[in-house]
Amino acid sequence: MAQIFAYILHKNGVIDDTARELLAVARKIDASATPTALVLGAGSELASACAAAAGAYAQVWKVDNAALAYPNAEVVRKALVKLVPAGSIVLMAHEHFGMDLAPGLAIRMDAAFVSDLVDIEDLDGGLLKAVRQEFGGAVHSHVTVDLSTGAVITARPGSFQAKEEAAAGGQVADKSGAVEDLAGRRDFIEVVAAEVGDVDITKSEVLVSCGRGFEEQDNLAIAFELAKAMGADVSCSRPIVDAKWLEKARQVGTSGQTVKPKVYMACGISGSFQHMGGIKGNPFIVAINKNPKAPIFQVADVGIVADVLEFIPELTEKIKEGA
Ligand SMILES: Cc1cc2nc3c(=O)[nH]c(=O)nc-3n(C[C@H](O)[C@H](O)[C@H](O)COP(=O)(O)OP(=O)(O)OC[C@H]3O[C@@H](n4cnc5c(N)ncnc54)[C@H](O)[C@@H]3O)c2cc1C
Repeated sequence: MAQIFAYILHKNGVIDDTARELLAVARKIDASATPTALVLGAGSELASACAAAAGAYAQVWKVDNAALAYPNAEVVRKALVKLVPAGSIVLMAHEHFGMDLAPGLAIRMDAAFVSDLVDIEDLDGGLLKAVRQEFGGAVHSHVTVDLSTGAVITARPGSFQAKEEAAAGGQVADKSGAVEDLAGRRDFIEVVAAEVGDVDITKSEVLVSCGRGFEEQDNLAIAFELAKAMGADVSCSRPIVDAKWLEKARQVGTSGQTVKPKVYMACGISGSFQHMGGIKGNPFIVAINKNPKAPIFQVADVGIVADVLEFIPELTEKIKEGA
C-alpha cells in the first residue's frame, strides 16, 4: 500500500479540525496505515502547529521556509512535488485552499485526482471505491480510483468523523532541506478580515442559520423569533448577504466568519462546502430543508425534511410552551 500523507491546514499555530478528519479518511483507505502529517509554514507558528499535529499523527513532516509563511497554493504545490515520494496518496480538506492546491498537484505527481470525497465504500485490489459530490452536492457519483500511481484526494469537511484518540506522541521530522528554492509567480498581499457587526457570531454557542430557503427578507423574522426563544444568535449563508437581507458579519463560510458553536441549526441551507468550511469544532448540526437530497443532510446529526416557513414558527411555539 502506498504511503499516505495528510496536508494540514493551520492558522496562528492552531491546526484545523480537518486535520483529524483526514486521519479518519486515511484509516478508511487503509486501517493499518501510519499516515504522515505534512505541516508547512514558517517560524514559531509552524512549531506550534507541528506540536499539535504530533498529538494526532505518529509522523509529522515539517517544512520551515519563509516563502511558506503565508497561504500560497502555488508555492505549497512546488514544495509538495519535491517532498512527497512518487506513488503516494495525499489527502487534504476540500475547502478553498485545497481546491486551489490539489488539481495541479495531481497533475505534477501524475497521480489520480478525486475531489469532494464524502465517503469510501471499499478498497479492492488497489481500486478505491469512493463517493464524491458534484454540481454543488446535487449529484453523488460513485467512482473507482486506481491508486497504483498515487492519488490526490480532497475530502469534504465534516464528512468523516474524527475519532477521540489518545495523544499520538508523534515524531516531527524536519524536511526543510528537501525544498529550498520556492519562488512563485504570485505573491500573497494581505488577509482581509470580515467586518464585525453588532453580533459576534464567532462567539455564539447556538446559531440559527438562514439560507436561501427563506425566499424573502421578511421571512427572516421567524428565524429571529426562534433564536430569541432558544437564546441563540442568527447567522446566514452568503446569498442572504449578497441580497442585503442581513449584514456581512453574520455570514458563515470561507468568505465569511468561522464559527464554533455547540449547536448549529442550518435552515433552508443546502450545505455547500464554502458554507460548511466556516463551521468548526464539530457542533451538533440540525438541518431543516424541504429537499431530502440536500447535501446538508450528509453532515447533519438531525435532519428534518420540512418547509422552514411552516416548521420554524411551530418549533418556536413549542419552545415557548415548554419554557
Ligand atoms: C469564492 C466563493 C466563496 C463563497 N463563500 C461562501 C461563504 O462564505 N458562505 C456561504 O454560505 N456561501 C459561500 N459561497 C456560496 C456557496 O457556493 C453557495 O452558493 C451558498 O452557500 C448557497 O447558499 P444557500 O445554501 O443558502 O442556498 P442554496 O444552495 O440555494 O440552498 C437553498 C436550500 O434551501 C432549500 N429550500 C428552499 N426552500 C425551502 C423551504 N421553504 N424550506 C426548507 N428548505 C428550503 C433548498 O432545498 C436548498 O437546499 C461562496 C461561493 C464562492 C464561489
